[in-house]
Amino acid sequence: MAEFPLGVWSHNLKDFGSEDEMKTRVAELADAGFNLIVPCVKNPPGAVDFFTDVGIVHPDYPDWDPLKVLIEAARSHGMDVHAWFCVFAERGEFGLLKDHPEYAATNDESPGWSCGCRPEVQDYVLSLFRSAAERYKPAGLHLDYMRTGGACRCDYCREQVGALGVDVDEAKQGTAEYDQWVEWRVGRVANFVKEMRDLTDELGCELSAAVFGGYPECIYSQAQDWVLWGERGWVDALFPMNYTQSPRVAWGRAVAHVAQVAGAVPVWEGICKRAGRFSHLTPRELTGQMRKVLQVGADGIIIFSYGSLKAEDYAAIKALKGE
Ligand SMILES: [Zn+2]
Repeated sequence: MAEFPLGVWSHNLKDFGSEDEMKTRVAELADAGFNLIVPCVKNPPGAVDFFTDVGIVHPDYPDWDPLKVLIEAARSHGMDVHAWFCVFAERGEFGLLKDHPEYAATNDESPGWSCGCRPEVQDYVLSLFRSAAERYKPAGLHLDYMRTGGACRCDYCREQVGALGVDVDEAKQGTAEYDQWVEWRVGRVANFVKEMRDLTDELGCELSAAVFGGYPECIYSQAQDWVLWGERGWVDALFPMNYTQSPRVAWGRAVAHVAQVAGAVPVWEGICKRAGRFSHLTPRELTGQMRKVLQVGADGIIIFSYGSLKAEDYAAIKALKGE
């Protein structure tokens, strides 16, 4: 197998343990052939795992500044870190929605979201990203939950869509009116990605995004037209979440993703080692899926997630990289 870029999402900086343990574990990742670590630093409850004056720092975030230590340790091994934000997922325990409950999405299908279409919400998350990037200077920033969570009917959305002549209570799927509403949401989400492109250009860092594996259905369900983001050059890499137990499904999705993006930006397939209803892969099954998606043209791999990887997975990955 030719050399390929390899990343890992880390759901929680706590998975790396103490300061000394973190340095050891980063060295283990480097030894196994990883090039990129993507730690989550803004989780849905709304607090953040980094020091900032913009948002609320999680009360459990320790003095030794795990994000800073992680970035320095990774850099010492030639690895990059992209700081991962759950962009519009907000449960209101801390931060924006605690202070401004009126910014919550009014969304029947899934609670726990801010209204990503609102300028106030976009401005807040953008300033939070800026504060992290300026303070820590990571190689990149990473978008997740870069979508609406469904169709929001908050006052703002109602008014804006109403100005287009569309009543959000009356518009039914399969009509031109409904599609106008979808397109408006797609545009609002895309607007934030474009603003992130401007920010990362200004600061000289990269931008990657975790995106739904089921494109183009996610245009309707989530207002997430991630192929558009790639075509416009607004992201440097797309990481479709290709989470499945089935190697056939992983293969089929990867074929689609590579064809859909058509070389506009690199596509790193997101392979799920272990998570809830998605998958529980042995080391052999993990590298089997990795091999399959690379064979059909994926430019790289990113594994979900760090906390589920064990020594036997590292050994299997090293063997794959050595093929
Ligand atoms: Zn809304």
